[in-house]
Amino acid sequence: MSALGAGHSAGGSCNEASALGPVEALGTEEGERPGALRQMWRYRSWDVPQIPPEAPQTQKAITKSGLQHLAPPPPTPGAPCSESERQIRSTVDWSSATYGEHIWFETNVSGDFCYVGEQYCVARMLQKSVSRRKCAACKIVVHTPCIEQLEKINFRCKPSFRESGSRNVREPTFVRHHWVHRRRQDGKCRHCGKGFQQKFTFHSKEIVAISCSWCKQAYHSKVSCFMLQQIEEPCSLGVHAAVVIPPTWILRARRPQNTLKASKKKKRASFKRKSSKKGPEEGRWRPFIIRPTPSPLMKPLLVFVNPKSGGNQGAKIIQSFLWYLNPRQVFDLSQGGPKEALEMYRKVHNLRILACGGDGTVGWILSTLDQLRLKPPPPVAILPLGTGNDLARTLNWGGGYTDEPVSKILSHVEEGNVVQLDRWDLHAEPNPEAGPEDRDEGATDRLPLDVFNNYFSLGFDAHVTLEFHESREANPEKFNSRFRNKMFYAGTAFSDFLMGSSKDLAKHIRVVCDGTDLTPKIQDLKPQCVVFLNIPRYCAGTMPWGHPGEHHDFEPQRHDDGYLEVIGFTMTSLAALQVGGHGERLTQCREVVLTTSKAIPVQVDGEPCKLAASRIRIALRNQATMVQKAKRRSATPLHSDQQPVPEQLRIQVSRVSMHDYEALHYDKQQLKEASVPLGTVVVPGDSDLELCRAHIERLQQEPDGAGAKSPTCQKLSPKWCFLDATTASRFYRIDRAQEHLNYVTEIAQDEIYILDPELLGASARPDLPTPTSPLPTSPCSPTPRSLQGDAAPPQGEELIEAAKRNDFCKLQELHRAGGDLMHRDEQSRTLLHHAVSTGSKDVVRYLLDHAPPEILDAVEENGETCLHQAAALGQRTICHYIVEAGASLMKTDQQ
Ligand SMILES: [Zn+2]
Ligand SMILES: [Zn+2]
Ligand SMILES: [Zn+2]
Ligand SMILES: [Zn+2]
Repeated sequence: MSALGAGHSAGGSCNEASALGPVEALGTEEGERPGALRQMWRYRSWDVPQIPPEAPQTQKAITKSGLQHLAPPPPTPGAPCSESERQIRSTVDWSSATYGEHIWFETNVSGDFCYVGEQYCVARMLQKSVSRRKCAACKIVVHTPCIEQLEKINFRCKPSFRESGSRNVREPTFVRHHWVHRRRQDGKCRHCGKGFQQKFTFHSKEIVAISCSWCKQAYHSKVSCFMLQQIEEPCSLGVHAAVVIPPTWILRARRPQNTLKASKKKKRASFKRKSSKKGPEEGRWRPFIIRPTPSPLMKPLLVFVNPKSGGNQGAKIIQSFLWYLNPRQVFDLSQGGPKEALEMYRKVHNLRILACGGDGTVGWILSTLDQLRLKPPPPVAILPLGTGNDLARTLNWGGGYTDEPVSKILSHVEEGNVVQLDRWDLHAEPNPEAGPEDRDEGATDRLPLDVFNNYFSLGFDAHVTLEFHESREANPEKFNSRFRNKMFYAGTAFSDFLMGSSKDLAKHIRVVCDGTDLTPKIQDLKPQCVVFLNIPRYCAGTMPWGHPGEHHDFEPQRHDDGYLEVIGFTMTSLAALQVGGHGERLTQCREVVLTTSKAIPVQVDGEPCKLAASRIRIALRNQATMVQKAKRRSATPLHSDQQPVPEQLRIQVSRVSMHDYEALHYDKQQLKEASVPLGTVVVPGDSDLELCRAHIERLQQEPDGAGAKSPTCQKLSPKWCFLDATTASRFYRIDRAQEHLNYVTEIAQDEIYILDPELLGASARPDLPTPTSPLPTSPCSPTPRSLQGDAAPPQGEELIEAAKRNDFCKLQELHRAGGDLMHRDEQSRTLLHHAVSTGSKDVVRYLLDHAPPEILDAVEENGETCLHQAAALGQRTICHYIVEAGASLMKTDQQ
């Protein structure tokens, strides 16, 4: 997934920056760069001279030209004079930051271009290839050993803060552009309106554009388009200005002189208590102070990312935020929790929070906000990473992340509605009536969390979660975060394996809700588990309360009504839950007193334990302020002369194969050409995608309808999804769970594009140029690789094909010829996923016997393991194979 712009072909404005040192700029492009520009580059100064204080005239000129921020700040006395001592950072430095410091990440961008320019590039002298790094904040790329050389051309990153102190009195309180040379650039030149010519080769060193790493404005790199005065203009900070925290708000406080040396030696000395009168509130000296300039239009954002969520999704997404925002508003939660950041920004008006991670990450941030008592509490939006994420689903943020551009996400966070979320206190104490014979060795008296946002449950589902946690502790490398759900699904498919411990749950609990004793009702039902639910979603998106609308016994579920839903599940209703069923509705209440007479597995928001016989009280704690993603037309219309929404829309539907999508989604024009018309739908002008989906699916059923005229006879697969075709640089997928939030006019202009993962690619259509070769017919035929070298190895594709076609002989043959059984297709589906969906027991067995064990836990992009799939398809034998092959805890369970 190159959606985050990590690769060279990853488009957006995330292109690799390229550039040149002053000498190269002036030397190699003679004629291209006449006087004014030439002077400007010199002036703008990769080598702005140190301005001596006695040269007020020069100082004035620089200030006026807006170049002052580029000049290095005066050296701090006592600071190490050699910059080479500094480490190469990939995080924001909050203690002894250097002004304009880049934030370096490894890059696999091809080519040998280096931003320092040929004169200073030290890698050129070495005869071997040298790793390169890319700055996430300004997107320049240099060889790792050339990072020091950036000093020589004095190219600093976009400044993320300003220095306080008397010397900077005249420092402007507005932000200036941060211009960077680019070898590739999407979009149009802001001056002449023309596109940027792209060289075919990624090795081209020609500069095509100059763009600002704050506002993303881009110009042709020639004097007729980019003019000197643009250096002086204030920067608007771009389309996300409302959420970007301007660097002018972030002040570096001057460290008291006498403590300087000591603090240099001590790490984190900056957070030490200081008695200095300069210390701001709470007597704590902080190296950075936030001094906001309030504006009613702003909704400044703090982004917290859990890099461990969702594989490495979190780590990748941090880099995108560093590009779109001020790096000082983006926090990596593995570098210390959210507390210090929230304290630092607590005075900022209209603050919003974006929590990127699983529901656990959100809970962590909500608890920290409770602790800090910010008034008013900043509303929290969610970018769900990984799988599960019932709270994120509830608030319309979806269950996980595919490839939506970060820029879109920022707009949703800005435009989202503020809603309330009930939070519940849990209090457990040992049951005084339980005798010592009821004690259980492995049981505890303490709950893992004493607050919950999603649900509290006891019995079967907690048991599964607990088994998972215990197995993971014993065997950490084998268990990833998706494993719990896998076990849950497997468990419901194999209830007979797992019945044991929760079979007689009803005999050991007493439940009193708002003073009413539900125990007799529970004893009648004999549930395997009892769930106390705050939000409508449970266990990765199921709806256990269902829609009680037609009966008048109960109200619909709400997350802000101060009521909990109490639900009982038998094994049958648990299994039915996966296919849209619901549990047994017991009651809706404001307070629960629960007594257990023996040790029972319980779970709080997915954190399990085996709780000794206890009395548990559940009561409303408070309400958290959250951001719910809104159904809203985008604030900036697609066309400035946009007409009012027409009553009826007649719109052509074209579908795109996964193969073409992966190969071409950064080239909108080619992707459009590769799409296959499916038919025409007529929908009301204000339709959302849910309604549109119904119309599109009907296309296939009309024998004489437009569908029949479609040039392809291949049926639309049930897994198709909408593509947003309106963003500047690329298409992206609309999460199926969010179709009700999108108007059709928001994702399409004159044509709707849909992605059909089972459609054969352009390779099946000889009339079109193909990005990669057609599928080879023989395993031995050498397949030409695509130019960009990012196509999957041909043999892997063949293996996938063999698994799809249920061609066991072919698969064996390919494996013997050295084929990689761990190959994954564009949707991260393994051979095992494919074998499970075709229901091929032979292929499944073969893979289990021959592939590395990781294949069992492999998750495709929608978060499904092969076991999920097998359970969903009701393939009991295959489930059995898979459980046996890897889930050793299942075996333990049977014993
Ligand atoms: Zn270099
Ligand atoms: Zn940078
Ligand atoms: Zn700018
Ligand atoms: Zn231009």
